[in-house]
Amino acid sequence: MDKSAVNPMNTKPALAVTLLVVSLLAACAARDTPRPIVVQGAMDVEIQKLARVIEHATEEHVGGWTFWRGTIDGYPVVISKTLKGMENAAAATALAAERYHPIAIINQGTAGGHQPDLHVYDIVLGTDAVNLGSFKTGNRALGDGSNVTEWNPLDLMRSEGSAGNDPSARVMRRFHGDAALLAAARSIRGTYTKGRVVDGVIGSSDVWNSELDRIQHFHDAFGTSAEEMEAAAVAQIASLFHVPFLGIRVLSNNITNGETYNTKTGEACQDYVYDVVKAYVRGLQR
Ligand code: SAH
Repeated sequence: MDKSAVNPMNTKPALAVTLLVVSLLAACAARDTPRPIVVQGAMDVEIQKLARVIEHATEEHVGGWTFWRGTIDGYPVVISKTLKGMENAAAATALAAERYHPIAIINQGTAGGHQPDLHVYDIVLGTDAVNLGSFKTGNRALGDGSNVTEWNPLDLMRSEGSAGNDPSARVMRRFHGDAALLAAARSIRGTYTKGRVVDGVIGSSDVWNSELDRIQHFHDAFGTSAEEMEAAAVAQIASLFHVPFLGIRVLSNNITNGETYNTKTGEACQDYVYDVVKAYVRGLQR
């Protein structure tokens, strides 16, 4: 008789082997689970439709932020309400990167036009996002007012030294849209019927700019097609986490040609982005 079969001392190695197998299986399962695509929007009118249409949605709250996990065409997605503005969007991005380890992040929603030939309902695919709140102003004495054309861009990511005193930091950092996400977004361009879909530069800051001279200056100096309050902040955090990023923005207003705010545009952008996600997933599966 094989005594080892009944020897209680042998249960320890058996347990160790079982644990090893279980952890290997868990590791394999984790590796086989696709990393989700995060889709963000700041306001309910910009995100609730996506939260409603994803399959198997579960809602999670972290601090003041809401995330909905689910799937689109069976592929995992996380819909994220970032809240408005650079700080809220940056924090939502860091939370999403840490919690969900996304394969890509799309920041989408409404924006204001920076050029008159773009109209409400047109969609801008962000080849670049730039921070329109990061500048060193000109030196002006008390009573001398302000002049935006003297403002030098400040690249806060350039060096660890004083950004204000480092001449090499006085360039506008351009956060490039990811090539594969851009390709997916462009590939369905022809399906959008509510306006045009164009490539462009998205400018972001916590300032709602309604001075036409300032908008013209930003357009001339940095090539902005539209402004909003989140994309560049998200792009910066996504880059620090090495997560591919794209901004997609629908014009909800355009002060350069007098077109006033239309809240319904947020829904059109979500519909478009839903199809962008599908196109991107098809690309991943090829
Ligand atoms: N007009 C809305 C408020 C929008 S607040 C209202 O009155 O309720 C600003 C939000 O809309 C931000 O999340 C920003 O990303 C987006 N936005 C749309 N148009 C904008 C513009 N012209 N300038 C700045 N942000 C704009």
